[in-house]
This record gives sequence, C-alpha cells and structure tokens, in this order.
Amino acid sequence: MDELCANLNSWRGDINPCSVALAPHLTTMLKIPPVFALATLTSLVALAPQPSVAAPAAIVRAPFGTMPDGKVATLYTLRNTRGGQVQITNYGATVTALRVPDKNGVRGDVVLGFDTLQGYLNGDAYFGAIVGRYGNRIAKGRFTLDGKNYTLATNNAPNHLHGGVRGFDKRLWNAKPLMLKEGPALELTLFSPNGQEGYPGNLNVRVRYVWRNDNALKIDYRAVTDAPTVINLTQHSYFNLKGAGLGTILDHQLRLNADRYTPIDPTSIPFGELAPVAATPFDFRQFHAIGALINEDNTQLKNGQGYDHNFVLNRQGGGLRLAATVREATSGREMRVYTTEPGVQFYSGNFLNGVKGKYGRVYPRRSGFCLETQHFPDSPNRPNFPSATLRPGQTYRQTTVYEFSTR
Ligand code: BGC
Repeated sequence: MDELCANLNSWRGDINPCSVALAPHLTTMLKIPPVFALATLTSLVALAPQPSVAAPAAIVRAPFGTMPDGKVATLYTLRNTRGGQVQITNYGATVTALRVPDKNGVRGDVVLGFDTLQGYLNGDAYFGAIVGRYGNRIAKGRFTLDGKNYTLATNNAPNHLHGGVRGFDKRLWNAKPLMLKEGPALELTLFSPNGQEGYPGNLNVRVRYVWRNDNALKIDYRAVTDAPTVINLTQHSYFNLKGAGLGTILDHQLRLNADRYTPIDPTSIPFGELAPVAATPFDFRQFHAIGALINEDNTQLKNGQGYDHNFVLNRQGGGLRLAATVREATSGREMRVYTTEPGVQFYSGNFLNGVKGKYGRVYPRRSGFCLETQHFPDSPNRPNFPSATLRPGQTYRQTTVYEFSTR
C-alpha cells in the first residue's frame, strides 16, 4: 500500500490522492483536463497490486515538480493493454517507475528512483535517465577529433563521465505523447548547442520510448549534428526484479551474450584490449548469480569495485540482438535486453549507499543493476573501438528493448 500511496502522492502534491482516488469529480479535484479523467481513474486503480487484465492503453500527464529556474517538469504514465505501466518524466527523459507482473500476476515496480522531482535534482546516481552526450567515461576529459583538441569536465576525477556536470540527464526535454499500434509512447527531444559541456556541434536528439503491449520498453534514439562530434547515448535504469528497494540483486541470475569484455584501469578507463571472459568472473555466458563471484580476489573486480565493465556483445551484422537475460526466482520475473549497440555496461550498483528512494525504501549497495547498451567507454581515444563519431549528414541511431516476462 505504501507503494500505491507514494505513487498517488506524486500525481498531485497538495492533496492525498489515496483518499480521493475513487472519489467523484475527479477532474476537479485533481485539476486535470476531463479528457484525461477516465484514463486517470483507471490508471490510479491500476497502480494497486492486482492481477493483470486486458484494458485499453492510456497515457496520463501530471505535474512532477518545479525546476530551480521555475519550469515545471511533467510526469507521463503510460499504461499498455496488459495493464503494465511505465512512468517517465521529461526531466532527464527519466524512467521513474516500471510496473510489471510477477509470476502470480501481481504488478511491482522494478526500477529504482524517487517519488519527487527533488529526489532527481539532488541525486547523483543517474537513476532511470538518458545519459549523454557521451555516456560512460572519456579519459581525463580529453579527446581529439579531426586534429582539434577538446576538453570536457572531469566530473568523475580524473575522467569525464556521462556527459559532464550537466548532461542530458539534468535537462528538461520536450515531450510528446503518442498512441502507437505497438503501445503507448513518449517522444522526447532535446537541443544541445555547440560547446555545451565542451562538446562540438549543435546536436538535435530524439528519444522515443514505446511501452509495448507485450510489456517491452523499446527505446529508439536518433541524433543529427551540424559539425563533427562524438555521441554515446544510453539508458541508465537500475533494475531489481524483486522490486525496487526489496533487497540486493546479488541473487539475480544473469546471462550475457559476450565472449569478451574491456578490462579497465583503477580509474575505470579501458586499456583498449578486448579480453576473453573465459575462466574469469566475467564469464556470464551461462546463467549464474550476479553475487556468485563478485567478491573474488580479482584485479578487475577491484578496479570496478564489483562489476562495472563494458561487455563486447557477440554479433554478426547489424540489427537488434539479444545482449542479456536476467532472472529472479522469487518473483519469477525475467528481463531480456536486445540492442543494436556493440557493447553493454554491466554495473552492479557498487556505489549505491543507502539513498532513500520511492515508497520510503532505501537502496543499499548492490540493490540495483544497470545494463547500459552503448559504444565502448573512451571510444573517442581508442581508434580500435567502434567509432562514436557523428558527422553532419549522418544520423545517429540506436535501439534497445527491455522485455519483461515471467516463468
Ligand atoms: C558507471 C558507474 C557509475 C554509475 C553512476 C555507471 O554507468 O559505470 O561507474 O558509478 O554509472 O554514475
């Protein structure tokens, strides 16, 4: 019930929606346009743990909080025909909640996050956000492109991380809800001017989240530039298939479709080598628990303080390929990750330190994991890695799907 009430409270801060959720005159009380009223009512009801039933898809919009500059962030609730829900705010194009059924059909929220915009403004863990312009690290915040040197913030000393001091995760995006055949969707756009956070080129970015009716979250990325630049967009959701804030992820079973990974130095920058995972704790080619070998005496695990490494996905040719499968036994939930990208950062939440998240639940170390599909870290300085350069006339494209089911 805490989970339900906490979510309802985020719909409208000045009333207690737990007491009004089923009251008459909903549109007046919630001060929302009548066109959203029916969807709102059904969505509020759908937030309660209950078996999944077929229902019309819906998109509901509500204020999420006010930014320091006075602009208001919006929270969009996308409900698919199975009753699965994704909530996304245009602040950071952030997924704040994702509710999918367990093996008994009871929905639970499987991503870490905050109840309010303030949580995201204060936070530094990139919960659920789209990170860019360059997700992951660039060594010493420096790179050279077409003979020109660029200097970026070293916000993760001594390196640049996730787009800098104020990356795409800390920006207010434009948002447009769409009802597609596949399911409800939210299209977010952002203009990143030449020189922002030190990157060259005016960049126009579009991220489209489609909450498919088969409980799969498809993310389509597009970007164009007017000058050569580097780009590496990713999604930074922390998952816990038992439910956000319900323990660690060490018991989750993981399989990665990767024969190789990119070992890192103690500052988390790859050496450039694509090393075999065979006979190391990085061999997830068969399912095993994330926690099984995480505390092994291994230099790479020490450098990452656990798993915080880029895996080189096995792929031939382009297109969407299975990158990872995660299973959690008590809930019976399974998540499959498909991507067009060459790599995935598997991060075992090593730096989570007990921050208080949604529903009053705390997130201790390793209580969430990320599977960030990406180009490899530090690619702008590694000519042997797939290129992260985008030039005028080209379109950056990326698609990743997080698909949920039970077993
Ligand atoms: C990085 C981690 C970092 C985390 C939050 C991950 O993508 O690999 O090293 O701590 O993001 O910033």
